[in-house]
Amino acid sequence: MRLANKTALITGGNSGIGLTTAKLFVAEGAKVAITGRDKARLDTAVAELGPNAIGIVADATDIAATENAVAKAVEKFGKLDIVFANAGISAHTPVGGTALDVFESVLKTNITAVFFTVQAAVAHLNDGASIILNGSVISVLGNPGYAAYAASKAGVRAMARVMASELSPRNIRVNVVSPGATATPIWDRVAPTPEAFNAFEKRLSQTIPLGRFAKPEEVAKTVLFLASDDASNIQGAEIFVDGGVTSAP
Ligand code: NDP
Repeated sequence: MRLANKTALITGGNSGIGLTTAKLFVAEGAKVAITGRDKARLDTAVAELGPNAIGIVADATDIAATENAVAKAVEKFGKLDIVFANAGISAHTPVGGTALDVFESVLKTNITAVFFTVQAAVAHLNDGASIILNGSVISVLGNPGYAAYAASKAGVRAMARVMASELSPRNIRVNVVSPGATATPIWDRVAPTPEAFNAFEKRLSQTIPLGRFAKPEEVAKTVLFLASDDASNIQGAEIFVDGGVTSAP
């Protein structure tokens, strides 16, 4: 029970990496509040997570909704020990063919909302708290069509370092987990059917040294490590969970 008596807030906790992490946190003894915009998916997730979880409908890009989500989590559980700012979106943003609103929606969700999630939570964090931001290998790889997403995730890395400096005096750690390609619904836009996804996964896996996608559980275990006291001297770091893709020649 590495998170016994700990409380956590996970944004985007009703799907993919966020939900998998919430399950692991609960199994390790934490009380967990998850957020998302889709109430039906949130209700299903909370039913799966059991009595030590609550779901709060909140659009992370809405600062008031984020503040309300933090307030509800604190009201239910008391002060927070862990914040996993995980909610994120991807969009096709080729240079020369991208509308401003599409570009801005990616930055608003993946950077602005992450900043304001941390800002809303920071006054409610216990001594020794851990904040984990979800980055991405795309912040360093330069994949075509990902300008907004890559910029947003590079911003996450930079922002985490600043937050780590600011919050060190309070003994609060801020780190980044940066997954490589991981099988979650975020790829529905690129590969909308199971057949399309299998073909896409097979093709992309050839570019990954370990030859496969990450499992959401592998990312979640890294988030658990960063959240736990096992990582008590890790500050302002970024851990890639990517099968070696960012270190390949
Ligand atoms: P999913 O699409 O499964 O999950 C995304 C989550 O974010 C959902 O819970 C979604 O809930 C939530 N979300 C999106 N926008 C908002 C918003 N405005 N307010 C609140 N919640 C929001 O994808 P993943 O699990 O893969 O993505 C999780 C994180 O992992 C993202 O930050 C992503 O960039 C990152 N990542 C994923 C990789 C992958 O290959 N899967 C690789 C690298 C990084 P709802 O729709 O209900 O709002």
